[in-house]
Amino acid sequence: MDKKFHGNFTQQDGLPEIAIERATRVLRSGRLHRYNLGKDEIGEVGSLELEFAKFINVKYCLAVASGGYTLSTALRALGVGHGDNVLTNAFTLAPVPGAIASVGATPIFVGVTENLVIDFDDLEAKSQNAKVLMLSHMRGHICDMDRLLSICASNNIQLIEDCAHTMGAKWGDRWSGTDGVIGCYSTQTYKHINSGEGGLLVTNNPDIMAKATMLSGSYMLYDRHPAGPEKKHYDLIKYETPNISGRMDHLRASILRPQLDDLMERVAKWNELYQILEEGLRATSGLTIVERPKSEKYVGSSFQFLLLDWSSEQIKRVVADCFSSGVELKWFGEASPHGFTSRYDSWKYVQTEPMAKTDRVLSGLLDLRLPLSFTKTDCTLIASIIKNVVQKLFETSNTSDI
Ligand SMILES: *Cc1c(COP(=O)(O)O)cnc(C)c1O
Repeated sequence: MDKKFHGNFTQQDGLPEIAIERATRVLRSGRLHRYNLGKDEIGEVGSLELEFAKFINVKYCLAVASGGYTLSTALRALGVGHGDNVLTNAFTLAPVPGAIASVGATPIFVGVTENLVIDFDDLEAKSQNAKVLMLSHMRGHICDMDRLLSICASNNIQLIEDCAHTMGAKWGDRWSGTDGVIGCYSTQTYKHINSGEGGLLVTNNPDIMAKATMLSGSYMLYDRHPAGPEKKHYDLIKYETPNISGRMDHLRASILRPQLDDLMERVAKWNELYQILEEGLRATSGLTIVERPKSEKYVGSSFQFLLLDWSSEQIKRVVADCFSSGVELKWFGEASPHGFTSRYDSWKYVQTEPMAKTDRVLSGLLDLRLPLSFTKTDCTLIASIIKNVVQKLFETSNTSDI
């Protein structure tokens, strides 16, 4: 192959100057702790919470230390604990089953379809066994949320949404994360706004937010939560709720606020790159594009495609050949987990049964990140490299079969 890509798949774009200025101001003040506030001062964390709640039009928002922490806090706030079962996606990232295990509960994995969303038939079949579904909008793919809500309602299931990959996305005209009882977001470096580590938890339920706030470690200073509920919601639970420290600090909040202001601009850029890849890979023999439903207003911060029913050997060749042309594909079908590509059967602390349909999808699933440091020209080149590699291997394997 003559063309080679020289970009870096883990290089994010730098933070905006205004974020750096605000961070410097916080550092100079020395007041980094969220409750270290002057009289009547809202502070960076409180302001971030207010701004995010306003952005997606929810009543309450709590900023915490990580996305994973939002998930375990959400479970605790709903009273999930030892011995409970929690439904979740077989196709997700390790912190999701990790959060479930951290409260002593057991994940029950629900299959994934070729569209990379939760399998509703499997969900219905397993929904008798649990009261909570922690739904991961994994890699930004959003299932039919109307159908999902009706399944949850008829089975008495409370929904927690893991929106680590859907901040800024919508189903129809509803922001991702506002359909469930609780919405959880990550602000870790590889997500849509970047504070290194961080998370945002949202809900419209005042009692759940009071509980989440106490859990996050509020030292009875809950009156310093401008995006929290009225005092009376804390009174009932304040002595009974343990402090499981996981707050956000002003430094992180200060760099997130300007990024939130630019979020939809960033979303437009991601989608432009995504659509170049999608177009470039269409009509590639042996390759399945993941078609996105009309109601889904996605954020194309990563790209997936399927090589369904290819052998492991062939897929390894695809990954290797793309890599030698500078394109880093992650393969979810690999027998042992590498980086973020772990799968339901790699979490050995959970007992699982094999899921044939899900295994077929994961075996052929390839993934690449689209950092905003990439240009449109980069994405045209990446698509053509993948297309050439896949097409060549598909043709040779077909002729050798004859
Ligand atoms: C990143 C991620 C999380 C957890 O976020 P952290 O901030 O890294 O704890 C949860 N779910 C998914 C799908 C993720 O990608």
